[in-house]
Amino acid sequence: MKSVTIFGATGSVGQSAVDLIARHPDDYDVVGLTGGQNITQLAADAVRLNAKVAVTCHAHLFNDLNDLLAGTGIEVAAGDAAIAELAKRPADWTLSAIIGAAGLVPGLTALAQGKTLALANKESLVTAGPLLMDTARQHGATILPVDSEHSAVFQALVGEDIAAVERVIITASGGAFRDWPIADLANASLAEASSHPNWDMGQRITIDSASMFNKGMELIETKEFFGINPAMIEVLVHRESLVHALVGFTDGALMAHVGPPDMRHAIGYALHWPDRGNLPVERLDLAKIGKLSFENPDPVRFPALQIASDVMEMGGLSGAAFNAAKERALDLFIAGQIGFLDMARIVSRVIDKMSASDGLQNAQISLDNILEIDALARVRADEAMKNLG
Ligand code: NAD
Ligand code: MG
Repeated sequence: MKSVTIFGATGSVGQSAVDLIARHPDDYDVVGLTGGQNITQLAADAVRLNAKVAVTCHAHLFNDLNDLLAGTGIEVAAGDAAIAELAKRPADWTLSAIIGAAGLVPGLTALAQGKTLALANKESLVTAGPLLMDTARQHGATILPVDSEHSAVFQALVGEDIAAVERVIITASGGAFRDWPIADLANASLAEASSHPNWDMGQRITIDSASMFNKGMELIETKEFFGINPAMIEVLVHRESLVHALVGFTDGALMAHVGPPDMRHAIGYALHWPDRGNLPVERLDLAKIGKLSFENPDPVRFPALQIASDVMEMGGLSGAAFNAAKERALDLFIAGQIGFLDMARIVSRVIDKMSASDGLQNAQISLDNILEIDALARVRADEAMKNLG
């Protein structure tokens, strides 16, 4: 029996994990599940998986969640502190599938318990990569990547010497606007940006896929997780979303990971690691698929990639500023306050401004400094919005 906790259980990744665990109830002892507004889902899953505790991050929803779980014997908690508290309860395997920088503290807390953290929350690696990796090392914890590209790279590296890696290529579908006339992008609506050609994901990451901020985050994620030199990391547009990443070695070999666009693969790989489980994902019929296509991303269509590359080179606390500015710009786009292309304009201005005056590169990468830069970048993003003109 493996004891497991899922942070962000009610989200897109979280629900895929719940699905995998619900198929084998005798194999898992569910310590805790967390969610946000959707307490009906949270309560239903807590009952279904026989969880010991259910936690919503919204303190004001405590009573409602408590009512939903009355008589079940399932403990109820609410608020950010309760989420972080859950991360201290022993679990062999913890999935961090919270969206945004809010995943950082629960992830760090879970790592300090010295067990296994399956990490979907890419924002914590972008924001605090060195801190996260150091915390894992200090406590003898294992981090397993749960982003399809990074799981793919991880799998391609099994049994290999990282010193023999020449390059890492992560693929991108190109998102909702890969074929739009560039002139139309400024007027793209929220609904248009929220539909993905291949993947079924949460709204925020879907919009980040349309802008390629998601791929930009994944560049930084690759550097931080695998410790790979930024110059060795590439992005290729691959419309079919079947090849998730390729690793190139010094002998010229490229090892590709191919699979259906289904997050249950990356989650399931991390859940069964170091073994391989039997996962309920589609088996590809390659003859039917026939062709796979690859092209270089267009830097004019996807300015987020260059911004992320610069941040990846800059290092230090620039990832924290980048992520927070991006999160704030995304909030503003979702709220209808800015246009689609304004997101990249805002993030670019925040990085320019903060790298010039706020010591992004030289400050110590501590949790306090990261949180301070995160808060400041959100303020700078609002200032940048007012000056968009
Ligand atoms: P989602 O929006 O569908 O779900 C997010 C989850 O986090 C929900 O359970 C929500 O209640 C919870 N949450 C939101 N704000 C919170 C807060 N402040 N504190 C605590 N919990 C909070 O998101 P998603 O698409 O499942 O993505 C989750 C993470 O996985 C993100 O970091 C995303 O980048 C990454 N990821 C997602 C996919 C995907 O297929 N959706 C693929 C790769 C990586
Ligand atoms: Mg991904």
